Amino acid sequence: MAGIYVHIPFCESKCYYCAFSSFVKNDEWEKYFKTLIEQILSSPYSVKVESIFIGGGTPSVVDKKYIEQILLAIKAKFDVADNVEITIEANPNSLDREKLEFYKKIGITRLSIGVQSLDNGMLKTLGRKHNKKQVFYALKEAKKAGFENINCDLLLGLEGQTYFKLKKEVDALKKYVTHFSCYMLQIEDGTLLEKMVLNGQIKLPLDDKTVTNYLKLTKYLHKNGFLQYEISNFAKKGYKCRHNLNYWTRGDYLGFGLSAHSFVNKKRWANANTFAKFYAEEKLFEEDLTDKQIVEEMIMLGLRCEEGVDKKQLKEQGYDIEQNLNYDRLIKTGIIFEEGDKIKINPDYYGASNLVIEQLF
Ligand code: SF4
Repeated sequence: MAGIYVHIPFCESKCYYCAFSSFVKNDEWEKYFKTLIEQILSSPYSVKVESIFIGGGTPSVVDKKYIEQILLAIKAKFDVADNVEITIEANPNSLDREKLEFYKKIGITRLSIGVQSLDNGMLKTLGRKHNKKQVFYALKEAKKAGFENINCDLLLGLEGQTYFKLKKEVDALKKYVTHFSCYMLQIEDGTLLEKMVLNGQIKLPLDDKTVTNYLKLTKYLHKNGFLQYEISNFAKKGYKCRHNLNYWTRGDYLGFGLSAHSFVNKKRWANANTFAKFYAEEKLFEEDLTDKQIVEEMIMLGLRCEEGVDKKQLKEQGYDIEQNLNYDRLIKTGIIFEEGDKIKINPDYYGASNLVIEQLF
């Protein structure tokens, strides 16, 4: 079983904090999708597909015919499971009833909407083009079009954000959605946000305030039936994202499109991240994972998930985690704990998970 990721590198405009491969280039669509579909159809790999994720960028800004062509190509080329999960990412201001009904008709089962915030001032500060009214319009239309599996992305660490405001946002959104992804705002090199922070135009809250808000929010989401199954992800029962679970459990996946990553049979590669190089089928990198890399990935991905990392499986890869000098201390302080063969991070320490994970390498 494997997942397929398709990257749509187009957006209506560039958000100030964005470091993803996304461009405002409508004149590139025709050539890009023609190449993308050729590359899907000529893939040398043959996998059974359980999930498809059309991400970006903003897939909902491009002509919907391209989305249909992509799905037809995947179905023509690969063995796609009958109950395949198909997600599309969308921005609230690029969704309307006609598009949503079309997505439903072509087999899309899950919407992931980049809400980020319901505060119009914060959205403006981030360079987002939508507003609160458009969020609820998109959610209501999605429901009318028959979508029930809907994720909302929320951003934490925004100027003026408080736990009270976040809680109110969850209250306003929860009846429409089955899943929340809550990400911390990162200041990426070379972004406009970085300049704004350096110039003092914008002041972001201290990390520990954001972590406190995040920990309180996780508890509030839990109280409302959204169970945390990964550090940033919360789902109602039966609505975990299968595609992302496959990444985190190190299942195989094929990535198509600009800068898309693939992982098959312990081999990882990424497509080039410029249009010219992508058209020439160049790769950004290609590598066979070493045992050390595999162990590090198992720890990193496993500890981010509620499932944890399996001690026995680590041993099979040649790593006895109990011999790690930090292991006993982390257990004694309650930062990590054991459950059978699984090692897990105490959810109260999810805000410091990167530090914990590093200590176990
Ligand atoms: S919509 Fe998403 S991908 Fe596009 S510019 Fe904004 S953050 Fe980046």
